[in-house]
Amino acid sequence: MQGLMMERQLLISSIAKHAMTFHPDATIVSVTADNPRHEYTYRDCFGRAAQVAQALTSLGLSRADRVATLAWNDYRHMEAYYGISGAGYVCHTINPRLFPEQLVYIINHAEDRVLLVDPMFLPLIDKIRDQTPTLEHVIVMGGPGSVPEGSDAIDYETFISGHSGDYEWPEFDEDTAAALCYTSGTTGNPKGVLYSHRSTVLHAMAGLQPDILDISRRDCVLPVVPLFHVNAWGIPYSCPMVGAKIVMPGPKMGDGETLYKLLSGEAVTLALGVPTVWLALLDYCETAGVRLDSLERTLVGGAAVPASMIEAFRDQHDVVLQQGWGMTEMSPLGTVNKLLPKHDGLSDDERVKIQTKAGRGIFGVEMKIVADDGTEQPWDGEAYGALRVRGPWICSAYYRREDETGDTHDADGWFDTGDVATIDPDGFMAITDRTKDVIKSGGEWISSIDLENTAVGHPDVAEAAVIGVAHPKWTERPLMIVVPKPGATPSRDDILGYLDGKIAKWWTPDDVVFVEELPHTATGKIKKTTLREQFSDYQLPETGS
Ligand code: ADP
Repeated sequence: MQGLMMERQLLISSIAKHAMTFHPDATIVSVTADNPRHEYTYRDCFGRAAQVAQALTSLGLSRADRVATLAWNDYRHMEAYYGISGAGYVCHTINPRLFPEQLVYIINHAEDRVLLVDPMFLPLIDKIRDQTPTLEHVIVMGGPGSVPEGSDAIDYETFISGHSGDYEWPEFDEDTAAALCYTSGTTGNPKGVLYSHRSTVLHAMAGLQPDILDISRRDCVLPVVPLFHVNAWGIPYSCPMVGAKIVMPGPKMGDGETLYKLLSGEAVTLALGVPTVWLALLDYCETAGVRLDSLERTLVGGAAVPASMIEAFRDQHDVVLQQGWGMTEMSPLGTVNKLLPKHDGLSDDERVKIQTKAGRGIFGVEMKIVADDGTEQPWDGEAYGALRVRGPWICSAYYRREDETGDTHDADGWFDTGDVATIDPDGFMAITDRTKDVIKSGGEWISSIDLENTAVGHPDVAEAAVIGVAHPKWTERPLMIVVPKPGATPSRDDILGYLDGKIAKWWTPDDVVFVEELPHTATGKIKKTTLREQFSDYQLPETGS
């Protein structure tokens, strides 16, 4: 017997309609390249999103045609999210930090027909335009003055101005593709993850839960995570569901001073971003002697979070740092770390130890860890395994690689995340490494993430990476590569002395080298493949290990 419930489709436009009905006066504040503070309401935003939908439709696009964006976090980008997907097209967000050849690859692979681009990225597009034959229309995200003379692009304001916004959002199947995001790909070509309306709406609802992001009408949310990086972790969809105020930092994402001014000036309660952006903010606050008064919590993920960062937010700003883990293939939310009632009586140190884990699974995300032979590993907090996941907002295949799922999914449809993890009896998962970055010494795994996280607690260390280097006896031993803080000159022995007692003795790196900077991917992750190439001939000193 079937249930007798309505079959209303979960569409992204339903979020816009809900926000227009229940939260029309909630506000969105943006920094744009040409305006230090733009403010308007959800009513304005979704009215203009409808104009975007009408303008795109007038170009003669067909259902599921790809419309790309190459832009920072601001109100026009938010309108584009809804205008594109709501009208039934696919919003393909492009990371401007990609190399030109990767840009060409993904625009061609996605067969983008329209591109909405921030004025500052126009030169990037001019350079590759003759290599992207599918691209028919370029819309510059600014007013009439934003298009350079001689360009065939049109400006966004003119593009939408002829349309009334009086628009009936189309209804279609909730499994229709809504958005496309390519992984940055440390090796090989980027791979496209194609989100559906249903997966996007479910993911946004899951994100709101009290033990996940806990967002309500009373919150003011600042996504420092870009709209081009996994849909800014779902914030543009979650916030309008509940009417939270949104603050969009525009091009000034990595600037500690701008971030501080936005956080305090707009009374932000929740901010989200990768660990590196918070380093700039914490540094600025310390130097300027200022405190983050309104901020209650931050969600930090995308890379491992060191204990020192959790402590800095707690001690200097009374802010709870919640770690999250996820990936482009997972929309991205997989786990979020929130302490349990039974942790209330623990000491600060014991609590931080738990908080450095990636967190517990969200309803909708199933997890398991498996050994090399595929057998499931116990959840004892000790056993390592390849982390596999399953759920309605996790990709079932990569776009236009639908016949290659044998490489990424097992027979029961579990997706191999490429991460190695432990899970403790309470369900707290901790990432120890990427599968391809694992260091195996004498048949045992050494966690490069634990070593790196511990090393950045040293006051002179700005960034640290650990890779495995060939060793005649142990197969591999860890080599630590450190970027000192400006003006600091730590020695190898300082660093090793600091690690002593904080890590298992046999994990101690055989050597420490100092460099000015580390190579990063377009999403800010350390590029270990490049480091391994760079140090492929490195001779470890005799340590007697
Ligand atoms: P990319 O485009 O670089 O693949 P993703 O955001 O999809 O960007 O990267 C996902 C990966 O980032 C995860 O598989 C994991 O390795 C890493 N990651 C994300 N969150 C965490 C975390 N909290 N701790 C450790 N690693 C993390």
